[in-house]
Amino acid sequence: MAGPNPHLTRRLQGFGTTIFAEMSALAARTQAVNLGQGFPDTDGPAEIIDVAVAAMRAGHNQYPPGPGLPELRQAVGRHQKRFYDLDYQPESEILVTVGATEAIAATMISLLEPGDEVITFEPWYDSYGASIAMAGGIKKVVTLSPPEYSFDPAELESSVTANTKLILLNTPHNPSGKVFSASEMNAIADIAKRHDLIVVTDEVYEHLVFEGEHIPMASLPGMWDRTVTISSGGKTFSFTGWKIGWVCAPAALVGAIRTAKQFLTFVHSGPFQLAIAAALDLDDSYYAEFVDDFRARRDLLCDGLAKAGFDVFAPQGTYFVNTDIRPLGATDGIDFCLTLPDRVGVVGIPTQVFYDNRERGKHLVRFTFCKTEAVLRDGIERLAKLND
Ligand code: PMP
Ligand code: GLN
Repeated sequence: MAGPNPHLTRRLQGFGTTIFAEMSALAARTQAVNLGQGFPDTDGPAEIIDVAVAAMRAGHNQYPPGPGLPELRQAVGRHQKRFYDLDYQPESEILVTVGATEAIAATMISLLEPGDEVITFEPWYDSYGASIAMAGGIKKVVTLSPPEYSFDPAELESSVTANTKLILLNTPHNPSGKVFSASEMNAIADIAKRHDLIVVTDEVYEHLVFEGEHIPMASLPGMWDRTVTISSGGKTFSFTGWKIGWVCAPAALVGAIRTAKQFLTFVHSGPFQLAIAAALDLDDSYYAEFVDDFRARRDLLCDGLAKAGFDVFAPQGTYFVNTDIRPLGATDGIDFCLTLPDRVGVVGIPTQVFYDNRERGKHLVRFTFCKTEAVLRDGIERLAKLND
């Protein structure tokens, strides 16, 4: 949505300002209910904040070690074992990053030669294109089509060329809310193995699955060796501002990614690393209540959106819901989202900005339900006025 900037390199032209920053600024300016950018309006567990505060008081205030504090790497290893029966050595196969965002960027910068191709699904998460571009790579997309956001494995396979280096997957998927099924995951895995590709998998919504189950790519037969798993504590523990993320992969891949990561940020936030280590070890009831709580919010928002006249694609996972605005007489999600604050005082995200071919997502608008029940009800009441 931003105009060209003459100082920006060719490879970053078009990336401008992120849609999330733009729409949150619009919400602040218009005092609209912000159902756009995905950040919770309630913090995670107080006991976890106490761990961060205690760590600062106890003097954990200088650079932590390059790969991340051992306490956090060990906790990530325990988490992968506990939930997925996956084994990673904390010393060599786990790397702490500045959120999943840095993990994605460092992975692209370290694994791609200029001209290497990355296949991802559209709609995509916004940092993928920028990270691939910063690495000099080329993004190729396979479209996920509503209502199931399904894809054709034959199309995926035919997108592979001699230059394809990796597949960049996101499940549960933002912005569609899709959770890739076992047969879809196996189809992707088979293609990766047949063509000797690495799969980089962004699993930041791994604990927000309402229907079906989260299947980590690394857990499929023959995939551990060729999978880079990325996640973070932002969504799972509602501390998006702490930006503690991680990579799990075989040692040689982690070593490569660490080389890029150490010159991007070197290290980050010891006290928050210790707090997220404690959070990962929370007992099963935390994780169960977390997903139940979001399921209730999902149902509340989906119901309100349907009553307001949207066609709603109820998500299987994440904290986003996509809607089709055409039943409301609208055709362009950007126009719709730019005028929505003035019309009814709500902000959403035009999903078309996550497509290479915007026409495909022109009629889609994403709303988030990571807000308190009161805020969601307020948003729903306002959206109901679209019918007036
Ligand atoms: N991947 C996806 C799919 C996301 O939605 C987000 C947004 N929060 C991120 C990565 C970035 O995660 P982090 O805040 O840990 O950098
Ligand atoms: N992941 C969040 C979303 O999709 C936003 C994160 C960001 O602003 N970069 O809304």
